[in-house]
Amino acid sequence: AEAALQRIEESDNKIKAYLTVTAEQALAHAKKLDNLPDGEIPLLYGIPGAIKDNMCTEGIKTTCASQILANYIPPYTATAVKKLNEQNYVLAGKTNMDEFAMGSSNENSSFFPTKNPWDPERVPGGSSGGSAATVAAGHVPFSLGSDTGGSIRQPASYCGVVGMKPTYGLVSRFGLVAFASSLDQIGPFARNVEDTAAVLQAIAGYDKMDSTSAKVEIPNYLAALNGDIKGLRIAIPEEYFAEGIDPEVAARVKEAIKVLESQGAIVEEVTLPHTKYAVACYYLLAPAEASSNLARYDGVRYGVRAEDAENLIDMYKKTRAQGFGAEVKRRIMLGTYALSSGYYDAYYLRAQKVRTLIKQDFDKVFEKYDVVVSPTAPTVAFKSGEKSHDPMTMYLNDIYTIPVNLAGLPGISVPCGLAHGMPVGLQIIGKAFSESTILKVAHAYE
Ligand code: GLN
Repeated sequence: AEAALQRIEESDNKIKAYLTVTAEQALAHAKKLDNLPDGEIPLLYGIPGAIKDNMCTEGIKTTCASQILANYIPPYTATAVKKLNEQNYVLAGKTNMDEFAMGSSNENSSFFPTKNPWDPERVPGGSSGGSAATVAAGHVPFSLGSDTGGSIRQPASYCGVVGMKPTYGLVSRFGLVAFASSLDQIGPFARNVEDTAAVLQAIAGYDKMDSTSAKVEIPNYLAALNGDIKGLRIAIPEEYFAEGIDPEVAARVKEAIKVLESQGAIVEEVTLPHTKYAVACYYLLAPAEASSNLARYDGVRYGVRAEDAENLIDMYKKTRAQGFGAEVKRRIMLGTYALSSGYYDAYYLRAQKVRTLIKQDFDKVFEKYDVVVSPTAPTVAFKSGEKSHDPMTMYLNDIYTIPVNLAGLPGISVPCGLAHGMPVGLQIIGKAFSESTILKVAHAYE
């Protein structure tokens, strides 16, 4: 813990992965842990980790990188973080993110943008950019992020670390500040697949506090990492290598697929024909859910309240006008419009139907194959400012990650070499609750 905090102190002024560093508490906690407990010592005992600032931590500021929650100190702890606490991990701090997890570059943080440790002129990805960057910078061995449309996998890919989005329902969302509740999942970042499996093991499992939490048996993920992928059937979707992909990125991913093939996996091309609708579908559904979830920030119940209001309605308006950033406002407006009467059938309902088609594409492929393998993102980390003026190009960046959330499936991104001197991510997607399989494939590749 001491070494981690020292590394944070040395380099985080350049990377800016943290919104809050809990140095004092961490050292005090670590000191107590010097007296080892009797019996078995949990895997994460004494290991420093970082938590994205949209997961509630009792007594510690949880801002979602938004001005509206700039002073919010939650009275309770998210279940996933509680589960880490049970193993006595040491909280190093809360990481920077795009405001309310809306973004792909960390440039939507209302405090400051995080830099990519590989090249400070480039973005770390988003929205869990701080959690990816702190692991990539070697500050801490692991962190937690959240993934609604790629926010764990894409920054993992951009920062050259492992990042995993579990099956919807595997990890409790209790205490995760809601963005789009039917898509949000918490998951780990780590330097390698083994550490990723250990953290997933700690945070997975049923929670009665989350009504969408799944009652499934949690397997031993570490035991699954046996390197045996002989005869495993890998599907390569042609739509994930179509226009828009950087040829260098495609080349690295194809080389990685060859490595899997050389270990005995059977590789075949497939089609996921509704992929082209995924981005449009997501950018209707996610803002619709967000517009509803973010209605709670009214200046009464949480966080910051605007001063100088003339009456209650004026107070709501001023609080929300001052408290939310441009991207959050854009999504609230889009979502409110899509849900309004008269437009609901044309937009929201249709997007839900398209969501089903996208899920069925995957169902069909998984009748024959064990995993789907693809790039995580069409490019390597882009330069700061390159896309921030144009939301549409920013949204298109999520093309390979979004379908996985829409279908509720697990996905992992593992580093697979460099293009233009920057890391490339290999995405491995599995059937629902087949985390063991995708971890096994990722581990065999790594
Ligand atoms: N980039 C996507 C968005 O802006 C995904 C974000 C996420 O997964 N939280 O919505």
